Amino acid sequence: MIQIIDMNHFEELKKSGVGFIAITDKNLAKNCVHHVTCHEVNGRYFNQKVVVNKGKNGSYLYTNDANEALNTLDKMTKCQKCF
Ligand SMILES: [Zn+2]
Repeated sequence: MIQIIDMNHFEELKKSGVGFIAITDKNLAKNCVHHVTCHEVNGRYFNQKVVVNKGKNGSYLYTNDANEALNTLDKMTKCQKCF
């Protein structure tokens, strides 16, 4: 998995339409892995969590295998909307 830390990279991945993004948040009971095209994978949320808050509460991780995220990250589930 690759941690996404800047907006350009985030936008490139969204545009490519390929792969999955796991969003972690230590304050939530469940975290979700999404298709990059899911509307919950949103530049505004990314900016808030990663750029403004500097990843203090969580991060965005890119993978081409959703199972990798499900198997290696805590409390990770598939998004109900995009899977
Ligand atoms: Zn989703």
